[in-house]
Amino acid sequence: MAYRIVIDPGHGGEDFGATYNGRNEKDDNLNLALAVGEILADNGIEVLYTRTEDVYNTPFEKAIMGNNANADLFVSIHRNALPTPNTGTGVETLVFNDQGIKSTLARNINNELANLGFDVRGVIERPNLVVLKRTKMPAVLVEAGFINNDADNEKFDAEFYDIAKAIADGILNTVG
Ligand SMILES: [Zn+2]
Repeated sequence: MAYRIVIDPGHGGEDFGATYNGRNEKDDNLNLALAVGEILADNGIEVLYTRTEDVYNTPFEKAIMGNNANADLFVSIHRNALPTPNTGTGVETLVFNDQGIKSTLARNINNELANLGFDVRGVIERPNLVVLKRTKMPAVLVEAGFINNDADNEKFDAEFYDIAKAIADGILNTVG
């Protein structure tokens, strides 16, 4: 049976996520999530999305979508930000706790992104994030570089497909 994976583009609609110089995290997240999902689908994965348009659902509603889909994995796509622009750089992957398949998945994604030259900030436990806490299947949240870092944005745009492929490869390596 094919793996079923829920891809969650973070934020959406009235929730812009982080913003920087007119750039909205919700848009980067959606574009990247759709690209990752397309690569997964091309590799025989059954892909579902929590959104494919610019709409808002609460993180709890998104977790429930994943649970109702009976998915094998839940992958939330975000971009990072620090209060002061150009102070943070690189990628990190968040998990409820650093155990089990989600721990392996998080490292596999980070390793693929490291191969593209990103600084890897690590696998970070975030037990209070709703999409990580309320999902019943292994879940990770990928922070694909900092939206308020000019160099990260340049890399995001210039290597967009490679970044999508890296995240997809990290997932595919995990599910074998
Ligand atoms: Zn976000």
